[in-house]
Amino acid sequence: MIAVLSDFDGTITKEDVAELLLQEFTGDAWREIERLHERIGTRETLRREFALVRATKEEVLTAAERLARLDPTFPPFLSFCRRQKIHVEIVSEGFDAYLLHLLDRWGLDIPFRTNAASFDGDRITLTHPYGDPTCTLCGTCKMGRVLELRARGYRVAYVGNGISDICPALEADLVFAKDDLAALCRKHERGFVPFRDFGDVQRGLADWR
Ligand SMILES: [Mg+2]
Repeated sequence: MIAVLSDFDGTITKEDVAELLLQEFTGDAWREIERLHERIGTRETLRREFALVRATKEEVLTAAERLARLDPTFPPFLSFCRRQKIHVEIVSEGFDAYLLHLLDRWGLDIPFRTNAASFDGDRITLTHPYGDPTCTLCGTCKMGRVLELRARGYRVAYVGNGISDICPALEADLVFAKDDLAALCRKHERGFVPFRDFGDVQRGLADWR
């Protein structure tokens, strides 16, 4: 049994939607916090960044829909996986409101684990239903999901592009990496398959089987 666990922002989408939203609603203010990401962890980075945002849920979803671009190779990749009986799941450090909205708009039905956003007027607060209680570095524990799937008998391929993808990448059986994740894999001497889009991932999986 094979499972593909994928990051969402900048992996399934062309750009990081959370970052596009931060840029839209805070200008460059979030970038100063983002520079601390690797040092203070994803959970604290998100908390500080989204505390700067003043936008209602409707404004956030409208902007997400306008700004987000799906990797066009992802839907055919998903069809390939369904044909091959490969389980596909998303693990994300974004949040539920825009993931649900975008996946629905794009007609994609995929289980996902992400942070939960609650909106109070123009304030957003994130909580972490899939956080690891013993580690506060991340919001969503992506590595924990790799371990759970493996315990259920899956070989797990991980696909990602960012800092929050390094923990699951270190535990996965096969890693597809680009951008910051590729750099971190090199730093940790973690072997990976470089990819640009899900066409590359599909070819890599076909070889792996
Ligand atoms: Mg990402």
